[in-house]
Parts: sequence; C-alpha cells; structure tokens
Amino acid sequence: MATFTRDTEIFRDEDMLREDYQPDSIAGREAVLDAYKTALQPVVNGAQPRNVFLYGKTGVGKTAVSRYLLDELQQDTMRYDDVDLSVFWLNCTNLSSSYQVAVNLVNTLRSVDDQISTTGYPQQRVFDLLYEELDTVGGTVLLVLDEIDHIGTDDEILYEIPRARSNGYLTDVKPGVIGISNDFGFRESLSPKVKDTLCEEEIHFSPYNAVELEEILHRRAEEALYDDATGSGVISLCAATAAQDTGSARQALDLLYKAGEIARAGDQSRIAESDVYEARNKLEQSQIEQGMRELTKHGHLALVATLQLALEEETPTRVREIFPRYRAIARHSDVDPLVRRRMHDHLADLAMLGILDRHGRNEGRSGGQYYEYQFSVDLDLVIDAVDDFENVTLPRTVARSIRARNR
Ligand code: ADP
Ligand code: MG
Repeated sequence: MATFTRDTEIFRDEDMLREDYQPDSIAGREAVLDAYKTALQPVVNGAQPRNVFLYGKTGVGKTAVSRYLLDELQQDTMRYDDVDLSVFWLNCTNLSSSYQVAVNLVNTLRSVDDQISTTGYPQQRVFDLLYEELDTVGGTVLLVLDEIDHIGTDDEILYEIPRARSNGYLTDVKPGVIGISNDFGFRESLSPKVKDTLCEEEIHFSPYNAVELEEILHRRAEEALYDDATGSGVISLCAATAAQDTGSARQALDLLYKAGEIARAGDQSRIAESDVYEARNKLEQSQIEQGMRELTKHGHLALVATLQLALEEETPTRVREIFPRYRAIARHSDVDPLVRRRMHDHLADLAMLGILDRHGRNEGRSGGQYYEYQFSVDLDLVIDAVDDFENVTLPRTVARSIRARNR
C-alpha cells in the first residue's frame, strides 16, 4: 500500500478553494458591477479614465471583482483600434509610503533587468522616472493599487498620478488610478485634495449575506469538490456561519476547505456538518494564535504575566496580582513597565480578542468593583504562542512549561 494516494472522494481541484484563485464568474454583486462598469466606461470611449476608489471589509470580493472586470475591459477594448489599454497591479501590503509605492510602480512598469533600487532617490526623481515609464507605455494606463490603506497618511502619490497629465508631466498617456482599501477609515484620513481626485468614483462593497455566500460557494464547490463530497446542508452551514460572523467570502471558502481537509483526514467519503463545526473551531483557534503573536510588546508582557499565574493555578486573578508579575517580567526583559492603569488596558484588549475572559466582581462591603481574569483558551495554545515571543525574558514556570511541551 502506498503512503500517498490521490484523493478520489473529496477534492477534485482543491486549488480552487485557495485565496489566490480567480473565479471566472462573479456571483451576487450585480449593483457593484454596474457601478464599476459605469466608472470604467470612459476607458472604452477612449477618454481620460476616471479614478476609482473601492472600499469594504476584507474578503468581500474587491480584488476578485476588479480582476474579473478589468480582464473583461481589456478583452472588450481590443475591438477598438484607437484604445490601447494597459493595466498594472500593485499590492501595497508591505509599502508604507508614497515613495515606496512610486518605486514599486516604476519597477512594475520596467523590465526585470532594469529595476531601480528601493532607496536612495529623491522623491521627485522617482516620480519623474514613473512619468517617463508611463509615457513609454502610452495609451490608457490603469494602475490598480490594492490594499492601498497600508500607505497611511503619506498619500501624496494618490494626488500626483491623476494630476500629472494636467500638470504637463505626461504627454502620451492617459493614466487612471484604481485604489482598493479594506479600511474605511483610510478614506476619511485622506488629505482633502487626494479625496477630491482619487475618490471621483466610489464603490462600496458591503458584507455578503448568507444567500450570496451560498451562491458563491456552490459555484466554487461544483468544480473544486467531487459531486457527492458534501453532505446535505454543508454548504449552507458554511455560508450561514460566515454571514453571521464577517460576511466574508474568504471566511466561507476557508470553512469549506478546512471542513474538507478534516473529512479527508478522517477517511470520510463526504463532508459532514460536524466537520464544518470542527473547522470553525480550528480556524478560530488559529485566529487567536495569530492575535497573540501580533500583540504589542506590553501586550506580550501582560499575557506572559497572566500565563504565569494560570500555571501556578492562581486564576481567576485580578490586576492587583497580575501587575507585579508584569512589572518583574518587563524589568527582566529590559523594558520600561507601564503604569498599572495602562497595563490594565492591555488586559482589556486581551479580553476583547477572546484570549482572556473577564468578569466584574463586587468588593465585599466597600462596594467597589473589580475585574477577574482567566484564560478563555486552552493554555497549551498560549504556551505555544509565548514560545515564539522575541525579547521577552520568561519566568521560570513559563519556561518550564514550554520545555515540557516541546519534549
Ligand atoms: P477582498 O479583496 O475584498 O479582500 P477577495 O476578492 O480576495 O476579497 O475575495 C475573497 C475570496 O472570495 C476570493 O477567493 C474570491 O475569489 C472569492 N469571492 C469574493 N467575492 C466573490 C464573488 N462575488 N463571486 C465569486 N467569488 C467571490
Ligand atoms: Mg483584496
């Protein structure tokens, strides 16, 4: 018997459930598609493109809808000899300034053996290089800046590119910017002149409801899974679960994918509803793990202090007990401890993330109120996360538990 054999019951093509898979049809987004098409119409007419700003929470189809529609646009404009359209994508996830976006745009437009360095040029020089490249491409150029909210308030470039033509920097090209943001606050934080230029056309992507998610999942499952791979109710359960939580298609697809993996690991011939519940727990767990890893330094210190008390079986506990531990760990880790009230804010954050559970209690006769904290997640999960914290000097009890886990 071989160690590995090809899946024949659950996944027909599991790559279709992955995040980067581009569906060839869009479900449940008619109104958005209409608005988007209207915004892009000038391109088809050979006119100056409008700038478009898309926003909505993560997983609601901003990237997928843009890819789909811009592909259609490229195909359909080929019929017109006087429209020469090029579309360039830049994901701004790791870019925190207009300068970095400009450098990366230059490199996106240039060939691989002609890239510029990401540091060392004056900002205006990089903008000039960008205009040169845009003019070289010529025709109509759409620049899609996905996850643009990562540049924060350093938003100069969002003003510069759209204005470059009227300012005389560009002669042979009609540029348009499509900005995509997960964060509505980003729109509010844009400087007024950027807001006027970039947000010429705004399109809001609302969270999906259960019916829409079910439609998206059905279409995807038809090809990603074998015909009999889902027991009755599995797809609607994934859709309903994601609709109640985030309204994100990504979450719904992740649930189905994870449930499929669980079924496969259990040698089942189909996915059951119980696999979806288990998948939900697993995904929640990994979200909490990620939440713990991404805390700030003082969040990490407060977490370790509470963990120390939990390992000594002193939980539920209160800030009066946690604070001295926190302070000692901070000092051993060469960090200036916060005052008690500020550290307490970090405990409140941990409770908000679902890591700690907090209860209000009344202080006997004096009538004062205080909070009690304990972990609402499995301690092993916390120990594993703490193991990855850098530059925190761990108390002996915590270090010992980590060693025991790793043995
Ligand atoms: P966003 O960019 O808003 O974070 P994505 O476009 O990446 O979200 O969508 C997340 C996942 O859901 C992707 O796999 C995408 O293909 C799928 N998806 C989202 N909306 C739709 C839709 N309307 N029809 C089909 N698939 C969709
Ligand atoms: Mg996206």
